[in-house]
Amino acid sequence: MLEGLMQDDFPLTLHHMLRRMRSCHPGAEVVTLTPDGSTERVTFGETAERVDRLARALGNLGIGPGDRVGTFAWNNQRHFELYMAIPCVGAVLHTLNIRLFAEQLTYIVNHANDEVIFVDDSLVPLLEKLAPQMPGVRHFVVMGDGDAGDLPRTLRYEDLLEQAGPGAFDYPAVDERQAAALCYTSGTTGNPKGVLYSHRSICLHSTATLMTDALALSRRDRALVVVPMFHANAWGIPHGAALAGTDLIMPDRFLQAESLAALIAAERPTIVGCVPTIFADLLRYAEQHPVDLSSLKNAACGGSAVPRQLMKDFQERHDVRVFQAWGMTETSPMATYSRPDESRGHDDAYWDDRAKQGRPLPWVELRLIGDDEEEVDWDGQSTGEVQVRGPWIAARYFNDDSGDEKFDKGWLRTGDIAAMDPQGSMQITDRAKDVIKSGGEWISSVELENEVMAHPDVVEAAVIAKPDERWAERPLCCVVLREGADISADGLIEHLRPRVAKWWLPDEFAFIAEVPKTSVGKFDKKVLRRQLGEETLPGRVMVGTSSAAPSS
Ligand code: AMP
Repeated sequence: MLEGLMQDDFPLTLHHMLRRMRSCHPGAEVVTLTPDGSTERVTFGETAERVDRLARALGNLGIGPGDRVGTFAWNNQRHFELYMAIPCVGAVLHTLNIRLFAEQLTYIVNHANDEVIFVDDSLVPLLEKLAPQMPGVRHFVVMGDGDAGDLPRTLRYEDLLEQAGPGAFDYPAVDERQAAALCYTSGTTGNPKGVLYSHRSICLHSTATLMTDALALSRRDRALVVVPMFHANAWGIPHGAALAGTDLIMPDRFLQAESLAALIAAERPTIVGCVPTIFADLLRYAEQHPVDLSSLKNAACGGSAVPRQLMKDFQERHDVRVFQAWGMTETSPMATYSRPDESRGHDDAYWDDRAKQGRPLPWVELRLIGDDEEEVDWDGQSTGEVQVRGPWIAARYFNDDSGDEKFDKGWLRTGDIAAMDPQGSMQITDRAKDVIKSGGEWISSVELENEVMAHPDVVEAAVIAKPDERWAERPLCCVVLREGADISADGLIEHLRPRVAKWWLPDEFAFIAEVPKTSVGKFDKKVLRRQLGEETLPGRVMVGTSSAAPSS
């Protein structure tokens, strides 16, 4: 082989991002919304200095290469500092999803062996209850001046930075294949699974987010980061911004439409990233209140299918282009993006294209596999399971082989069903995995079924996703009652209330005679989903509308 003579050993690590923040974009800013509606502003140059202090503070806490460091935080300045400092000292940033169930949270903290957890003061009440079940965590570092509550072994973020002192930090060399960040996904059956990103995968992915046919982050942009930093690295926006010099506008915990609209009017972001539920809320709010969304040119939306009407309404009423992206925690997450050619006008074909999940980003390869395990043609009609591969796609889960069936000889089986058109654009048509996505977060149908079936009057329960304008999907629970039982939908809700998170509670039940089964005796939810779509699902009762189950 005649070897190329390039600097192929130059490592793709987050050190480069930090260097760029310091030297190429010192004037870019991070703006964080505070509880009184004012904002805190710090430049990238100042942020890099605080990252140096934080890196030293991590060393003082005994954090070294490979150690896992948790964050339990909203989108804000300090979380961004942790995004940079933890991987740059060779440790692993473990972003904890604050919306997970108590048992799931303690499971992932213990499974990841988090040594230290950094927690926003506003989130202390959530974490303090769970801290006794996290014996391996040596310190809880509280960010902000708020109460540390009953958290044990606490330290204060600003004290640590103060003690660490100013000055440059000598970062250790890091291999680009070294783990940099860890994010668990509950969008699978069984326990949450850890996706362990490397420096290299984060660098390549965030470079791709800068492309014109993707997020198109640039130095001229200001990005409002609504998608949580605890969910798949906020789609790579913070990393992309560090590379490109994009200002970051962080809403912290103020995600209601009113606060976001005020923040948009005041800070004039050009780009925003969020799930359809939040966009739908914003649109509704804009119908009833005078809002100024005129700064927004480009909005990235994904996490669930983005309704075509939502995109049209934004464009026609506010001149905001909402583009759809598709991906998963396992795909870093950006894998496809839909930014059709604008020059051909906005006819129906254009909107058909916009409503698709789009083309794979460069370096992401896609294939569809049918029921017969054969590849499906890209004819725009035939469907199959989407499988993906590429340098920022997970190869396996962290310390857990129970999800190994998702990895098929170098391809990730996504559990999404789609058709590809001959121009290489993907349209998701269904989901093979047994989960429900409501407002961007997962509900496990299996767990919900188990809790419903724990009721003595219930013989069988099968939970399916019901399309919902606001939340994208909501759980609909099909139940078979014991003969002679007359428990109502509301009675079942009372049974579930102490057992599951409030937002998991089904809005609707269907009292059916039997759950359809496959040839091997498994619940055949395809049949239930089809009946729901064709409006032939019997015995449907909305919660709060009836005191007794119908007899059918
Ligand atoms: P998560 O790992 O929680 O980010 O969830 C990833 C899953 O969300 C995907 O496998 C899809 O099922 C769903 N998803 C994400 N983006 C889209 C989209 N644009 N359209 C339809 N489903 C989506």
